[in-house]
Amino acid sequence: MVFCPRCHSNLVKRNGLDRKGYQRYMCTSCGKQFTSKTDTYFSKMRFPNTIITFGLILHYRYKKTYRDVSKYLKSCGIDVSHVTVHNWARKFSYFINSYTLRPHSDTWYINESITVVNGEKKHLLTIYDSNGNILSTRLSKKKTNKQIEEVIKKAVKLVGFTPKAIMGTQIEPLIARSI
Ligand SMILES: [Zn+2]
Repeated sequence: MVFCPRCHSNLVKRNGLDRKGYQRYMCTSCGKQFTSKTDTYFSKMRFPNTIITFGLILHYRYKKTYRDVSKYLKSCGIDVSHVTVHNWARKFSYFINSYTLRPHSDTWYINESITVVNGEKKHLLTIYDSNGNILSTRLSKKKTNKQIEEVIKKAVKLVGFTPKAIMGTQIEPLIARSI
């Protein structure tokens, strides 16, 4: 059963499709037009709720990196960049953390990805712990020891302790030198 997000009436009728092809409804009680995304966390998001949720499960539950989630979705014919996956994780991290109440762990991961912002290549560094909490992110022109140090410091400041280990495949030597 479909309810109107404004007046909660169930006197709604189908009203064609919206621009993206989602079923649109109209409330006969108050006249509001809406889709299943209206007034939800998914409104104004490009991809369907199910794809976003699936990507978030891969990342948070199965600890897949943004790149791996992107690769997996691409192999299913869904063209989602790792930057988009990162944006989903950032958008939903507070929501997910506040529901699951997972404590911060002392084993951290650092994920580096290259992204293009206004035609300029940027390095995106993200630190998350083994419970899937995102601890800090940083976008910079160059990947230097200083940038890595700063993204780690930001995470330490957030959780209030230093990690037992930070793991990251591509940049281990740099981390080892920077902390
Ligand atoms: Zn209504």
